[in-house]
Amino acid sequence: HFPVIAIDGPSASGKGTVAQLVASKLGFNYLDSGALYRIVAFAAQQDNIPWSDALAVTACTKTLKIEFINEQVLLNNQDVSNEIRTEEIGKGASQVAVHAPLRAALVDMQHSFCKAPGLIADGRDMGTVIFPEAELKVFLTASTETRALRRYKQLQGKNQPANYEHILQDLTERDARDKGRASAPLLMADDAILLETDNVGISDAVDYILQKYQI
Ligand code: C5P
Repeated sequence: HFPVIAIDGPSASGKGTVAQLVASKLGFNYLDSGALYRIVAFAAQQDNIPWSDALAVTACTKTLKIEFINEQVLLNNQDVSNEIRTEEIGKGASQVAVHAPLRAALVDMQHSFCKAPGLIADGRDMGTVIFPEAELKVFLTASTETRALRRYKQLQGKNQPANYEHILQDLTERDARDKGRASAPLLMADDAILLETDNVGISDAVDYILQKYQI
């Protein structure tokens, strides 16, 4: 058994950035569980499988070869790192993620990331479902407005079209879907620490988590 730090929270809370930095400071492995749901949404789309079709999406997932090599995400030996990061695939990910059989099909793969010397697991249900025995659980969040503004600036920075009202609406819908689903809904584990980042920068959030881990 190796130590696990579970970092859960809603979309655009900054947890991906924070979790990767914590992983690199500790020299731990990093699991981006959201990427798995994104890969599934992408693969289903490529095979013309509707995201609403739980059985077909799950069957398709079982045939996929998924690898994380350095910063790259490989699907059947192809680099899909950029393809899975679009807003559309993010929306698809949150639609396939409601299916209980699909979530069950991804459990073993997620557990396999727990290797020496330890793991930072980033997602929605890391502390509640996948790694309930985690040494430290953090629930990282911020108001919908703060998260929408962050995403807006991020898109602007990449010279991509960005509309604040659209982003706000999309995040609200995605939160509702993540919180309202029957299977592994987004909720804070009883033993998690709440970290609200509206007024906390990335490096302060990282330091806070490292400090809690060392206690
Ligand atoms: O974190 P990211 O935005 O990449 O996740 C995409 C979607 O995948 C989320 O909106 C959520 O619906 C789903 N997801 C999940 N469980 C996880 C990680 C992500 O349901 N552990």
